[in-house]
Amino acid sequence: MLANRRRDTGPELALRRALHASGLRYRVDSRPIAGLPRRADIVFGPSRVAVFVHGCFWHGCEEHYVSPRANAPFWAAKVEGNRRRDAETEGLLRAAGWLPVVVWEHEDPDRAAKRVSNIVARRKSS
Ligand SMILES: [Zn+2]
Repeated sequence: MLANRRRDTGPELALRRALHASGLRYRVDSRPIAGLPRRADIVFGPSRVAVFVHGCFWHGCEEHYVSPRANAPFWAAKVEGNRRRDAETEGLLRAAGWLPVVVWEHEDPDRAAKRVSNIVARRKSS
């Protein structure tokens, strides 16, 4: 739970596999906007969709976040900081015409892939 690997986590790989299987192509772990030092896990450039796969612990999932007993104030501040940063990143992307999409690690990867591909298709046709 506390291993904070920035990329290639299990839920992220499962989502990428499902997206790839449905024919979508994307960039991985890259900056949606050149010059903005924020990365997204999966980026659909032409449709301007940036997908963030959020770990339930690190991003403070409302259903699954449980504060560790040791150093609780430290973790609360850490996770709160992550949430603030997430919200800020989403705001910056929206302001630049991008659509941020959050997929939680607890979501079924196939269903999440379906949701993302629908969003990408809708963005392409509009
Ligand atoms: Zn969760």
